[in-house]
Formats: sequence, structure tokens, C-alpha cells
Amino acid sequence: MANDHNIFQELISHCKEYGYIFQSSEIYDGLAAVYDYGQLGAQLKKNLRDEWWKSMTQLHENIVGIDAAIFMHPTVWKASGHVDNFSDPMIDNKDSNKRYRVDHLIEAFAEDLEAAGKATLAKEVLETMDVLLAKDDYAGLKALIEKNNMKCSISKTCNWTDVRQFNLMFKTEFGAVASDNPDDNVVYLRPETAQGIFVNFLNVQKTGRMKIPFGIAQTGKAFRNEIVARQFIFRMREFEQMEMQFFVRPGTQMEWYNYWRDARKAWHESIGIPGNKLRFHDHVKLAHYADAALDIEFEFPFGWKELEGIHSRTDFDLKQHANFSRKKIQYFDNDLNPEGKPYGNYTPFVVETSVGLDRLFLTVMSLAYANESWTKEDGAPDSRVVLKIPAKIAPTKLAILPLLKKDGLPEIARELMNECKGSFMCFYEEKDAIGKRYRRMDAIGTPFCVTIDHQTKEDNTVTIRYRDDMRQERIALSEVKKLVLEKINT
Ligand code: ATP
Repeated sequence: MANDHNIFQELISHCKEYGYIFQSSEIYDGLAAVYDYGQLGAQLKKNLRDEWWKSMTQLHENIVGIDAAIFMHPTVWKASGHVDNFSDPMIDNKDSNKRYRVDHLIEAFAEDLEAAGKATLAKEVLETMDVLLAKDDYAGLKALIEKNNMKCSISKTCNWTDVRQFNLMFKTEFGAVASDNPDDNVVYLRPETAQGIFVNFLNVQKTGRMKIPFGIAQTGKAFRNEIVARQFIFRMREFEQMEMQFFVRPGTQMEWYNYWRDARKAWHESIGIPGNKLRFHDHVKLAHYADAALDIEFEFPFGWKELEGIHSRTDFDLKQHANFSRKKIQYFDNDLNPEGKPYGNYTPFVVETSVGLDRLFLTVMSLAYANESWTKEDGAPDSRVVLKIPAKIAPTKLAILPLLKKDGLPEIARELMNECKGSFMCFYEEKDAIGKRYRRMDAIGTPFCVTIDHQTKEDNTVTIRYRDDMRQERIALSEVKKLVLEKINT
């Protein structure tokens, strides 16, 4: 665990040093739990988003994508239940004034128990917590914390307030007109992208002539005033979601829920996440809108945590929006039921897949990061830091490196650059010794390097070096683009 912690800290520093992720507003000492993606991070994020978008929309004839606004009519959040229910139980330590999410405090305590070899007790504590959370039993949760003498990490005391609910939505004001009632101008920064899909259900269904079952996909920013924002980009206050709402005939939701659970796990594996690093975790406490829910968890360096949620949201959202907007939001199903009659009008049920793009990014980076050392043939030690990001999603695919800055080598390299750059991201570099340049490409995760040397002038071949095993081979210059395209498309 301590070792994983160190590796995680190394990864965070590496992300900064090589232009993947920076603390937001760093020159002003940063803004807690808000991050900026640098030149390589933005590209990796885009590649992940594009893969998801392609798998959802291009590869499914019955799923279309939209891009709804972040600001929505405030009634949306009343209808969805977020104004009343989007809150987490919190507890404050009276001595340090530090606020904790109750489940985080208890989980951290259970992790410590487990590390101390008290796994049975840890399991018992977590099971009791699940039961109390499911019943919204706040007095019981406080009693559990006190009974086990759980302490604040700062004050080291057990002097707790009562457990209270804290709403996670950010509020702001809309327009310049002052009103006597401050609530008149209130708008929220959306805490999830899903509602933009629900309120557009009829627009998309009618204009796209969509037939059930069908899905609407969307990627975009979401905002949550997380109390305990921690673990780098795992829990942020501004983050990006990739969500898909799949509209189905009532009664078929469990079939689709199982389908999407398996399809989403398979998708994660398709972008290089090993199956044994993923697992399903069924929810004990269901959200107010759900009749089934699970998390796809990944084994992060700090433990198994949620990467994606699969939720069977029933007809809750569409019905709520129909009630609050007084519009009819239904679907007419022409298909015939077992009695030979059309299914007719109904409110569709929804199965949702919801993955955090930033958490997916962290997943990819924590799998990719490696600090390797070995002994060379001459007995000398050697080492490197490498990001083994799968070629398909790596931000830069090919580095083009003339061995020297003279003798016509840069000209050949530039020609190759011009041939390839329209098809994939390339990086050109002629400074420093070749070994140093390879190491830099390893550190930013470039899967292929091509070196142009004097032999290239004689026989039109180049050295290609593969990042993961550092193997080198000679191939025809004319084959480079084809080879890279083949590797990034598999
Ligand atoms: P958690 O239990 O970790 O708070 P959640 O169950 O509230 O997450 P959902 O509402 O299901 O999360 O959101 C769907 C996905 O959005 C999550 O699986 C996660 O990948 C991502 N996500 C949610 N909150 C955050 C956040 N604060 N920072 C980064 N990603 C987030």
C-alpha cells in the first residue's frame, strides 16, 4: 500500500512535469480539486472521448449524440430531485472544523483496520454502514463513528457534530435584472449531463425518427461542490462525464441493464484495461430514481473505486419532467405485443451508462506509468520512466528523429513528417543524443520512434523503435506510415 502510494505521488509529479495535468491557477497557489489538462493531457483526453463517442454513436445505429448546454432551466433540477436530494451525509470535527463525508470517514477507518490485519472487523463496520446509509439513519451513523472511536486525521479527536446533509450543486445568478426575491435568478451548474438528454428526449426522438430501443449519448462538463475532494483527478469539483441514456420498453429494463453492464466492461477492455483490474459492485442503497444500479470499479493505486455507473433509472426522469413542464412526454410504440395489439403510448424506461472522463484518464495513466530498471549487457545499470499508453489512445503516435542536424537527414525526416501528420499526431525532434530523445519519448508515452540516419540515404530504410520492449528494427521508409496506422487501428 505504501509503495502504491509512492507510485501514485510519482505519477502526479510526472503528469505535471511532462505537460499532462497542471493544478488550476497554479501561479495563485491553485484552486482545490480543479485541474487543467496540458498539451499532452488534452490530446489523451480527446482520444478517450473520441473512442467512447465512436463506440456509442458510430458503432450503434440506434444511438445518436447531442451537446446540451451546461445552464438549464432551474425547474429541471427540482423535477430531477437534485434540489431536494443531491446531497451527501457529512460530519464535522468540532476541534479541527474539518468536514468529512460520512462514508469516506468510515471507509478510511475500515481500510486502516484491514491494514492492521483486522479484516473481519473492517467488513463488519462496512456492512453496518451500508445498512445505516440505506435507511438514512444519521443518528446510527454517528453512533457507529463514536462507538469505534473514529478520529479526525487533523485534530486526532473524536469530537463530532451530528450527521447532516449537504447539497452538492453549485448555484449562480442568471441575467442582470435585480429581483426582490434572490431565488428568481438562481441557476445551477449542472451536476450531471443526463438531464440535458431527458429534456431533449422528444426533440431527438421526433427529429431523428428514433424507434425504441434507442440511446442518446453526450459528453460534457459537470460540476459538484465535493466536500472531500481528493486523490488528484479522481474527485474534482469540475469534471467531464460521458453519459448515454438508453430508452427501452417498460419491463425490458433488466435485460438492457445486463447488456450494458457487460458491453461497458468489454469496452474498457478494448482500450487496454485488463479485465482482472475491473469488477462490478452492486449498490445496496439505490438512488431515488433507480430500480437497479452498479459501479464498474477499477483497482486504482489507492484501492478499488468507481470508474463508471450503470443505472436502471426507470421512467422517473421523463415522468417528472412531464409533470413539472405539463407536457406529454411519451412514445407511441407500433410494435405488436404478444396479444397482437400495438404496445401503444408509454413513458420509456431508461438504462444509463455514466463514466467520468477524468477517472478514465487516471485509470489509463495509472496502468501506463512504470519506473523500470535493468542491467545492460556490459553490466552497467540502466533505467527509464515510461508511459505504456496503448498506441490507439496515446497522444503522440510517432516521433520522427533525424540522427544529425545535417547531411540532408532533416530534409528526409521533414518529408516523412509531411506524409504522416495528416493521418496521426507526430512529433519532430532533432536536438540531443538519440538515446536521450528516446527516453523523452518513453516518458511522454510515444509508442513509435523512427530514426533517419546515413543508411537511410543509401537504401531508404529507417530504424523503428518500439516503446514497450525497446526493440529496434530496420524497415523501409515507405512502410512507416502504413505500419503506424496498422498498429493504432488494432
Ligand atoms: P462517487 O460515489 O465516487 O461520488 P457518484 O456515484 O456520485 O460517484 P455518478 O453520479 O454515478 O457518480 O457519476 C457518474 C460518473 O461520473 C462516476 O462513475 C465518475 O466516474 C464520475 N464522477 C462523479 N463525480 C466525480 C467527481 N467529483 N470527479 C470526477 N469524476 C466524477
